[in-house]
Amino acid sequence: MDIKYLKGVGEKRAAAFKSVGITRLEDFLNFIPRIYLKKISIRDLRNHFGENVVIFGKVIDVEHPIKKQQPLKIFLNDSTGTTEIPFFGKSEFRSKQFRLNENYIFWGKVNEGYGFTKYKLDYRDHLKIDLSDKNDSDFLKFPYFPVYELSDVLKKTWIKPILLSKIVFNAFAKMLKENADLTEETLPEYIIKSANLPLKKNSILRINFPLQFSNVEEARKRLAFEELFYLQLIFALKKRSIKNEVKGISFIKNTDKLKADFEKACGFVLTNAQNKVIEEIYTDMKSESVMNRLLQGDVGSGKTIVSVFAMLVAVQNGYQAAIMCPTEILAEQHFSTISNFLKEYNTISGENLTSTILVGGQKKKLRGELYDDIKEGKSNIIIGTHALIQEKVEFKNLGFVVIDEQHKFGVMQRAKLKEKGLNPDVLVMTATPIPRTLSLTYYGDLDVSIINELPGNRKPIITKLSSDERKPEIYNFVKKEIEKGRQVYIIYPLIEESEKMDLKSAEENYKLLKETVFRNYNVGMIHGRIISYEKDEVMQDFKNRKINVLVSTTVIEVGIDIPNATIMIIEEAQRFGLSQLHQLRGRVGRGSEQSYCILIAKNLDEVSEKRLNILCETNDGFLIAETDMEIRGPGEFFGTRQSGILNFSCTDLNKDKNLLYRARDIAFNIIDSDPQLRKAENEIIKNHFLKNFKDALYLMRVA
Ligand code: ADP
Ligand code: MG
Repeated sequence: MDIKYLKGVGEKRAAAFKSVGITRLEDFLNFIPRIYLKKISIRDLRNHFGENVVIFGKVIDVEHPIKKQQPLKIFLNDSTGTTEIPFFGKSEFRSKQFRLNENYIFWGKVNEGYGFTKYKLDYRDHLKIDLSDKNDSDFLKFPYFPVYELSDVLKKTWIKPILLSKIVFNAFAKMLKENADLTEETLPEYIIKSANLPLKKNSILRINFPLQFSNVEEARKRLAFEELFYLQLIFALKKRSIKNEVKGISFIKNTDKLKADFEKACGFVLTNAQNKVIEEIYTDMKSESVMNRLLQGDVGSGKTIVSVFAMLVAVQNGYQAAIMCPTEILAEQHFSTISNFLKEYNTISGENLTSTILVGGQKKKLRGELYDDIKEGKSNIIIGTHALIQEKVEFKNLGFVVIDEQHKFGVMQRAKLKEKGLNPDVLVMTATPIPRTLSLTYYGDLDVSIINELPGNRKPIITKLSSDERKPEIYNFVKKEIEKGRQVYIIYPLIEESEKMDLKSAEENYKLLKETVFRNYNVGMIHGRIISYEKDEVMQDFKNRKINVLVSTTVIEVGIDIPNATIMIIEEAQRFGLSQLHQLRGRVGRGSEQSYCILIAKNLDEVSEKRLNILCETNDGFLIAETDMEIRGPGEFFGTRQSGILNFSCTDLNKDKNLLYRARDIAFNIIDSDPQLRKAENEIIKNHFLKNFKDALYLMRVA
């Protein structure tokens, strides 16, 4: 049925609905209320002071204002009493809206009244009800009314909240009349029973029109389970298809000598955790299936060197390896680490391995030479930014791919680098730990390795929260540390929405610091807008200790490794997420000296103060990540909203941890025992999957 025939819709509103993607009755099945309003009797208003409620009754009187400041008053009566609904302004228009002796639903906030009615309702919305219409009277039977998100397009056609609820109700009534099942069940009976879930039909009905409030959560859980289950099913299928259908490279050469030479060249002893993950990665590399592994580790836990070992394994087997980083600074740093390492390694092993860096802004001639080297296989390890995935870049035989700080890359970018090789093994690394629930929903198809230990020479960073007023004190402390030979970062926030202003303030502060407090020292500055060779120069000077104080925006955030820097000052710390602050803080505490992180914040409210204090109390990135997600929600966790498969409408990862684990278990077990979904009991799953997740299947193939 065309929705224009639905009561309350009509031609114009149908067009508005169409523009937000609602054309069929079934589209209303996906509606999820934002809030619910309790329907109460007028006598009961007294028990709901300050709350938003819905009442229903008959207009028994309309009192027009005598003076201008006075409101128009509507008096509404039900079998339990009478209340007053005042309207300030537009009384002419309002008085025409309400007719004596007609019935209305009113939504409002319960407030104190005067005289005759002790409680009044501060008006929010209303709907006229025709009790002779069965649809209308049925609508009134429910104890709660759903309120939905109302887009501007719909508002323009005078659809108001209660009217929208009524339209959804009408649509449901219509659908039920045509089909008592309302909609297809999307989970097989054995799952519904074993996981103790309500049926799909009931969940959809009750999340919109609950009979009692507990219905809402029961229904939400069922719908959330379904979202999580199908997402995990995609992961299970993808993982299986990568493992079984695509043949990867087995890097079979013995690594005993390689490992020994590698350890010598490192100059430090690997931690147990590093050795453990190296073993996990190597086991994957030996096998014929394609590796897809996520390496998680706290800031400074030494992920880079782990990836270097894996790349050497690939190179030893005659393949090229590439590592892609989100920023040029980071690419430069990895290049310098890796090329220095290779010098050592070559001397020790007698080999002659080379590395190359590919970033934007390199001269055309150089670029051409680099392309040739890569294509001819003269470069063994290629380090770069997005420049690596340019069309012109061709590898001789790319066998191993590392994605560093991978959350900064999209699915497609990761896929593009992979496509430069022939089913290469892939290692993705995160900047900071990710809560388990998030890693299972973002990277559920990856195997996970965790480095849960920092190199032993580290002292925990001392972190303090401070106010603006104490800056002189802080600067004095900083100067003392500089005198001892240490170096300092000062970070100014640069948030995308206010980039220009932020940049200006960072630059002004830089000048000020340079000319006043730190005039006797060398102060440098970098930010995203500085052209790359200048950036290199500044970073190089900082690394070589020519610069004492480095003022920066958050470009410094990812990965920078300068062990002699021991103080991190973060201005306006309240503007960052906890994980991001932890990541910034991780720029210090990388050597054997005591390091400090000073968070400066002004006008802190209680919540933000509590939040920032977590950083003062712990250096544990895994714990911080969990807390950060609880506070900011999964969507904001990475700092930027990520689009993609993770588009839940019912799931709340903070609440649904166990539901997620259960859904994952069930999904993976199913694909294990019935990979083609051929069993009769899984037919529902197969049909629903094919009907609704074609896009996901596509993504599965490319990513
Ligand atoms: P992240 O895991 O944050 O990427 P990095 O890989 O940049 O950390 O390593 C941080 C620093 O720790 C580097 O200077 C690196 O050389 C050093 N490092 C790595 N492993 C060890 C180890 N086992 N012992 C001592 N220092 C190490
Ligand atoms: Mg790193």
